[in-house]
Amino acid sequence: MPDVLTAPLVVEFPFTRSLGPVLSAFLTGLRERVVLGIRTRDGRVLVPPAEYDPVTGEDLHALVRTAATGTVTTWAWNPAPRRGQPLATPFAWVLVRLDGADTALLHALDAPGPEAVRTGLRVRVRWAARRTGAITDIACFEPCPPGTDAPAGPAVPHDGVFPDPVTILTTPARLDYTYTPGRALGRHLAALADRRITGERCPSCHKVYVPPRGACPTCAVATGEQVEVGPRGTVTTFCVVNIKARNLTIDVPYVYAHIALDGAGLALHGRIAGIPCDQVRMGLRVEPVWTGDARHPDHYRPTGEPDAAYDTYKELL
Ligand SMILES: [Zn+2]
Repeated sequence: MPDVLTAPLVVEFPFTRSLGPVLSAFLTGLRERVVLGIRTRDGRVLVPPAEYDPVTGEDLHALVRTAATGTVTTWAWNPAPRRGQPLATPFAWVLVRLDGADTALLHALDAPGPEAVRTGLRVRVRWAARRTGAITDIACFEPCPPGTDAPAGPAVPHDGVFPDPVTILTTPARLDYTYTPGRALGRHLAALADRRITGERCPSCHKVYVPPRGACPTCAVATGEQVEVGPRGTVTTFCVVNIKARNLTIDVPYVYAHIALDGAGLALHGRIAGIPCDQVRMGLRVEPVWTGDARHPDHYRPTGEPDAAYDTYKELL
Protein backbone atom coordinates (compact mmCIF):
# COMPACT_ATOMS: atom_id res chain seq x y z
CA MET A 1 0.00 0.00 0.00
CA PRO A 2 1.23 3.51 -0.75
CA ASP A 3 1.33 6.04 2.06
CA VAL A 4 -2.03 7.49 2.97
CA LEU A 5 -2.45 10.64 0.94
CA THR A 6 -4.02 13.80 2.34
CA ALA A 7 -4.28 17.30 0.98
CA PRO A 8 -5.57 20.61 2.32
CA LEU A 9 -8.55 21.78 0.28
CA VAL A 10 -10.38 25.10 0.28
CA VAL A 11 -13.84 25.72 -1.11
CA GLU A 12 -14.61 29.42 -1.29
CA PHE A 13 -17.81 30.97 -2.62
CA PRO A 14 -18.36 34.61 -1.74
CA PHE A 15 -21.91 35.66 -2.49
CA THR A 16 -23.74 38.96 -2.62
CA ARG A 17 -27.26 39.65 -1.39
CA SER A 18 -29.51 42.68 -1.28
CA LEU A 19 -30.60 43.60 2.23
CA GLY A 20 -34.14 44.93 2.07
CA PRO A 21 -35.29 47.80 4.29
CA VAL A 22 -35.00 46.17 7.73
CA LEU A 23 -31.53 44.63 7.53
CA SER A 24 -30.32 47.68 5.59
CA ALA A 25 -31.38 49.87 8.55
CA PHE A 26 -29.80 47.44 11.05
CA LEU A 27 -26.41 47.30 9.32
CA THR A 28 -26.38 51.02 8.49
CA GLY A 29 -27.15 51.63 12.18
CA LEU A 30 -24.11 49.57 13.21
CA ARG A 31 -22.00 51.74 10.93
CA GLU A 32 -23.36 54.75 12.89
CA ARG A 33 -22.77 52.96 16.23
CA VAL A 34 -26.49 52.47 16.82
CA VAL A 35 -28.10 49.07 17.45
CA LEU A 36 -31.57 48.80 15.96
CA GLY A 37 -34.18 46.21 16.77
CA ILE A 38 -37.75 45.84 15.64
CA ARG A 39 -40.91 45.79 17.74
CA THR A 40 -43.60 43.19 17.21
CA ARG A 41 -47.31 43.90 17.61
CA ASP A 42 -47.29 42.28 21.06
CA GLY A 43 -44.42 44.53 22.16
CA ARG A 44 -41.41 42.21 21.94
CA VAL A 45 -38.19 43.71 20.56
CA LEU A 46 -36.18 41.49 18.20
CA VAL A 47 -32.43 42.06 17.82
CA PRO A 48 -31.22 41.48 15.17
CA PRO A 49 -34.44 42.77 13.60
CA ALA A 50 -36.52 40.47 11.42
CA GLU A 51 -38.70 41.50 8.49
CA TYR A 52 -41.51 39.27 9.71
CA ASP A 53 -42.76 38.28 13.14
CA PRO A 54 -41.37 34.75 13.60
CA VAL A 55 -44.52 33.76 15.51
CA THR A 56 -47.34 35.35 13.49
CA GLY A 57 -45.64 35.96 10.13
CA GLU A 58 -46.81 39.58 10.27
CA ASP A 59 -44.81 42.32 8.44
CA LEU A 60 -42.70 44.31 10.90
CA HIS A 61 -41.82 48.00 10.46
CA ALA A 62 -41.38 49.57 13.92
CA LEU A 63 -37.62 50.01 14.26
CA VAL A 64 -36.36 50.82 17.74
CA ARG A 65 -33.00 51.73 19.23
CA THR A 66 -31.61 49.50 21.95
CA ALA A 67 -28.64 50.07 24.20
CA ALA A 68 -25.14 48.89 23.32
CA THR A 69 -25.02 47.10 26.68
CA GLY A 70 -26.57 43.77 27.54
CA THR A 71 -26.48 40.49 29.40
CA VAL A 72 -24.90 37.17 28.38
CA THR A 73 -27.65 34.55 28.21
CA THR A 74 -25.39 31.64 27.25
CA TRP A 75 -21.88 31.10 25.96
CA ALA A 76 -19.24 28.67 24.72
CA TRP A 77 -15.47 29.07 24.92
CA ASN A 78 -13.54 28.99 21.65
CA PRO A 79 -9.95 28.04 22.55
CA ALA A 80 -8.61 28.00 18.99
CA PRO A 81 -10.00 30.75 16.75
CA ARG A 82 -9.98 30.02 13.07
CA ARG A 83 -9.19 32.29 10.17
CA GLY A 84 -11.89 34.91 9.65
CA GLN A 85 -13.40 34.65 13.15
CA PRO A 86 -14.01 37.90 15.03
CA LEU A 87 -10.93 37.69 17.28
CA ALA A 88 -7.53 36.12 16.68
CA THR A 89 -7.06 35.23 20.36
CA PRO A 90 -9.23 32.69 22.30
CA PHE A 91 -12.67 34.14 23.00
CA ALA A 92 -16.21 33.20 23.99
CA TRP A 93 -19.09 32.84 21.58
CA VAL A 94 -21.96 34.53 23.43
CA LEU A 95 -25.64 35.15 23.06
CA VAL A 96 -26.20 38.68 24.34
CA ARG A 97 -29.63 40.10 25.14
CA LEU A 98 -29.13 43.82 24.70
CA ASP A 99 -30.88 46.12 27.17
CA GLY A 100 -34.27 46.88 25.66
CA ALA A 101 -34.35 43.69 23.57
CA ASP A 102 -36.22 40.43 24.15
CA THR A 103 -34.06 38.23 21.96
CA ALA A 104 -30.33 37.57 22.01
CA LEU A 105 -27.68 38.36 19.43
CA LEU A 106 -24.82 35.96 18.65
CA HIS A 107 -21.37 37.50 18.78
CA ALA A 108 -17.88 37.18 20.25
CA LEU A 109 -16.85 38.22 23.76
CA ASP A 110 -13.27 39.26 24.43
CA ALA A 111 -12.38 37.74 27.80
CA PRO A 112 -9.09 36.58 29.30
CA GLY A 113 -10.34 33.02 29.78
CA PRO A 114 -13.44 30.89 30.32
CA GLU A 115 -13.29 31.55 34.07
CA ALA A 116 -14.08 35.21 33.28
CA VAL A 117 -17.31 34.35 31.45
CA ARG A 118 -20.67 33.43 32.96
CA THR A 119 -24.34 33.58 32.14
CA GLY A 120 -25.63 36.88 33.47
CA LEU A 121 -22.36 38.72 32.79
CA ARG A 122 -22.92 42.36 31.89
CA VAL A 123 -21.25 43.27 28.60
CA ARG A 124 -21.02 46.14 26.15
CA VAL A 125 -20.31 46.56 22.46
CA ARG A 126 -16.76 47.28 21.38
CA TRP A 127 -17.15 49.10 18.09
CA ALA A 128 -14.76 48.46 15.21
CA ALA A 129 -12.54 51.43 14.38
CA ARG A 130 -13.46 51.17 10.71
CA ARG A 131 -17.14 50.44 10.10
CA THR A 132 -18.70 49.56 6.76
CA GLY A 133 -22.29 48.55 7.56
CA ALA A 134 -21.78 44.91 8.56
CA ILE A 135 -22.14 42.76 11.68
CA THR A 136 -18.35 43.05 12.02
CA ASP A 137 -18.87 46.75 12.84
CA ILE A 138 -19.35 45.28 16.30
CA ALA A 139 -15.74 44.15 16.74
CA CYS A 140 -16.85 42.07 19.72
CA PHE A 141 -18.42 42.45 23.16
CA GLU A 142 -16.37 43.13 26.28
CA PRO A 143 -17.26 42.88 29.99
CA CYS A 144 -18.64 46.12 31.43
CA PRO A 145 -16.10 47.69 33.81
CA PRO A 146 -17.23 47.60 37.47
CA GLY A 147 -19.60 50.45 38.25
CA THR A 148 -20.80 50.82 34.66
CA ASP A 149 -22.93 47.69 34.49
CA ALA A 150 -26.36 49.07 35.37
CA PRO A 151 -28.96 48.03 32.76
CA ALA A 152 -30.03 50.76 30.35
CA GLY A 153 -33.68 51.69 29.83
CA PRO A 154 -36.15 50.30 27.31
CA ALA A 155 -35.76 50.61 23.56
CA VAL A 156 -36.89 53.90 22.01
CA PRO A 157 -38.50 54.47 18.62
CA HIS A 158 -36.10 55.06 15.74
CA ASP A 159 -37.54 57.67 13.42
CA GLY A 160 -36.07 58.76 10.11
CA VAL A 161 -33.37 57.11 8.08
CA PHE A 162 -29.59 57.22 8.08
CA PRO A 163 -28.00 58.92 5.08
CA ASP A 164 -26.28 56.74 2.51
CA PRO A 165 -27.72 53.41 3.70
CA VAL A 166 -25.96 50.15 2.89
CA THR A 167 -28.10 48.05 0.57
CA ILE A 168 -25.83 45.14 -0.40
CA LEU A 169 -23.98 42.60 1.69
CA THR A 170 -21.13 40.45 0.41
CA THR A 171 -20.66 37.35 2.50
CA PRO A 172 -17.41 35.43 2.18
CA ALA A 173 -18.13 31.73 2.70
CA ARG A 174 -15.11 29.45 2.97
CA LEU A 175 -14.55 25.82 3.93
CA ASP A 176 -11.05 24.66 4.83
CA TYR A 177 -10.72 20.93 5.14
CA THR A 178 -8.32 18.04 4.77
CA TYR A 179 -9.16 15.58 2.04
CA THR A 180 -8.16 11.92 2.28
CA PRO A 181 -8.78 10.06 -0.97
CA GLY A 182 -8.86 6.56 0.51
CA ARG A 183 -7.27 3.36 -0.83
CA ALA A 184 -8.73 3.11 -4.33
CA LEU A 185 -8.24 6.73 -5.30
CA GLY A 186 -4.90 6.69 -3.47
CA ARG A 187 -3.71 3.90 -5.81
CA HIS A 188 -4.92 5.93 -8.79
CA LEU A 189 -3.07 9.04 -7.57
CA ALA A 190 0.11 7.07 -6.88
CA ALA A 191 0.03 5.77 -10.48
CA LEU A 192 -0.55 9.30 -11.77
CA ALA A 193 2.69 10.33 -10.08
CA ASP A 194 4.36 7.88 -12.52
CA ARG A 195 2.30 9.36 -15.36
CA ARG A 196 0.14 6.25 -15.63
CA ILE A 197 -3.66 6.50 -15.57
CA THR A 198 -5.30 3.57 -13.84
CA GLY A 199 -8.79 2.45 -13.04
CA GLU A 200 -10.40 -0.52 -11.34
CA ARG A 201 -12.61 -3.13 -12.99
CA CYS A 202 -15.87 -4.34 -11.49
CA PRO A 203 -15.72 -8.16 -11.16
CA SER A 204 -19.45 -8.37 -11.87
CA CYS A 205 -20.29 -5.98 -14.76
CA HIS A 206 -16.63 -5.53 -15.88
CA LYS A 207 -16.97 -1.75 -16.10
CA VAL A 208 -13.64 0.05 -15.54
CA TYR A 209 -13.97 3.02 -13.22
CA VAL A 210 -11.52 5.89 -13.78
CA PRO A 211 -10.88 7.38 -11.33
CA PRO A 212 -11.81 4.43 -9.10
CA ARG A 213 -13.87 4.80 -5.94
CA GLY A 214 -13.26 1.30 -4.64
CA ALA A 215 -16.68 -0.10 -5.45
CA CYS A 216 -19.12 -0.43 -8.32
CA PRO A 217 -22.21 1.61 -7.46
CA THR A 218 -24.33 -0.46 -9.84
CA CYS A 219 -23.35 -3.91 -8.56
CA ALA A 220 -22.44 -2.89 -4.98
CA VAL A 221 -19.24 -4.94 -5.03
CA ALA A 222 -15.62 -3.95 -4.42
CA THR A 223 -13.44 -3.23 -7.44
CA GLY A 224 -9.99 -4.65 -6.80
CA GLU A 225 -8.48 -5.34 -10.22
CA GLN A 226 -6.13 -2.58 -11.36
CA VAL A 227 -6.39 -1.65 -15.04
CA GLU A 228 -4.18 0.81 -16.88
CA VAL A 229 -6.17 2.89 -19.35
CA GLY A 230 -5.39 5.44 -22.05
CA PRO A 231 -3.31 7.44 -22.24
CA ARG A 232 -5.27 8.36 -25.37
CA GLY A 233 -8.97 8.97 -25.28
CA THR A 234 -12.00 10.43 -27.01
CA VAL A 235 -13.89 13.65 -26.29
CA THR A 236 -17.47 12.55 -25.58
CA THR A 237 -18.88 15.99 -24.83
CA PHE A 238 -17.51 19.41 -23.97
CA CYS A 239 -18.27 23.04 -23.19
CA VAL A 240 -16.54 26.33 -23.95
CA VAL A 241 -15.87 28.28 -20.74
CA ASN A 242 -16.10 32.06 -21.16
CA ILE A 243 -16.17 33.13 -17.51
CA LYS A 244 -12.83 33.55 -15.80
CA ALA A 245 -12.92 32.18 -12.28
CA ARG A 246 -10.92 33.95 -9.59
CA ASN A 247 -7.39 32.52 -9.24
CA LEU A 248 -7.60 30.89 -12.67
CA THR A 249 -4.24 31.22 -14.38
CA ILE A 250 -5.31 30.30 -17.92
CA ASP A 251 -7.11 32.62 -20.31
CA VAL A 252 -10.73 32.29 -21.37
CA PRO A 253 -12.26 31.02 -23.52
CA TYR A 254 -11.08 27.48 -23.00
CA VAL A 255 -12.66 24.06 -23.50
CA TYR A 256 -13.50 21.67 -20.70
CA ALA A 257 -14.45 18.20 -21.83
CA HIS A 258 -15.55 14.77 -20.82
CA ILE A 259 -12.87 12.40 -22.08
CA ALA A 260 -13.31 8.63 -22.28
CA LEU A 261 -9.80 7.20 -22.04
CA ASP A 262 -9.25 4.04 -24.08
CA GLY A 263 -10.27 1.11 -21.92
CA ALA A 264 -12.24 3.19 -19.39
CA GLY A 265 -15.90 2.58 -18.68
CA LEU A 266 -16.75 6.19 -18.00
CA ALA A 267 -15.46 9.62 -18.95
CA LEU A 268 -13.32 11.88 -16.78
CA HIS A 269 -12.96 15.66 -16.95
CA GLY A 270 -10.11 17.53 -18.56
CA ARG A 271 -9.19 20.73 -20.33
CA ILE A 272 -8.57 20.61 -24.06
CA ALA A 273 -5.80 22.79 -25.54
CA GLY A 274 -3.67 22.88 -28.65
CA ILE A 275 -6.70 23.39 -30.89
CA PRO A 276 -8.99 26.43 -31.40
CA CYS A 277 -12.08 26.25 -29.20
CA ASP A 278 -14.42 26.21 -32.19
CA GLN A 279 -12.72 23.13 -33.63
CA VAL A 280 -13.19 20.92 -30.58
CA ARG A 281 -15.84 18.30 -31.30
CA MET A 282 -17.38 15.10 -30.02
CA GLY A 283 -15.23 12.16 -31.12
CA LEU A 284 -11.99 14.18 -31.15
CA ARG A 285 -9.04 11.95 -30.23
CA VAL A 286 -6.82 13.43 -27.50
CA GLU A 287 -3.86 12.56 -25.29
CA PRO A 288 -2.70 13.94 -21.93
CA VAL A 289 0.01 16.60 -21.65
CA TRP A 290 2.02 16.50 -18.44
CA THR A 291 3.91 19.56 -17.30
CA GLY A 292 6.60 19.96 -14.65
CA ASP A 293 6.21 17.51 -11.80
CA ALA A 294 2.42 17.87 -11.59
CA ARG A 295 0.58 14.76 -10.36
CA HIS A 296 -2.07 14.97 -13.07
CA PRO A 297 -2.20 15.98 -16.73
CA ASP A 298 -2.25 19.74 -17.27
CA HIS A 299 -4.55 19.32 -20.27
CA TYR A 300 -5.31 17.06 -23.23
CA ARG A 301 -4.35 17.82 -26.84
CA PRO A 302 -5.44 16.36 -30.19
CA THR A 303 -3.51 13.29 -31.34
CA GLY A 304 -4.19 13.87 -35.04
CA GLU A 305 -5.94 10.51 -35.37
CA PRO A 306 -9.26 10.32 -37.25
CA ASP A 307 -12.25 11.06 -35.04
CA ALA A 308 -13.76 8.14 -33.14
CA ALA A 309 -17.05 6.80 -34.49
CA TYR A 310 -20.06 7.82 -32.41
CA ASP A 311 -20.97 4.17 -31.74
CA THR A 312 -17.65 3.66 -29.93
CA TYR A 313 -18.44 6.20 -27.21
CA LYS A 314 -22.22 6.66 -27.23
CA GLU A 315 -22.55 4.64 -24.02
CA LEU A 316 -19.99 6.89 -22.28
CA LEU A 317 -21.75 10.23 -22.69
ZN1 LIG B 1 -20.43 -3.51 -11.63
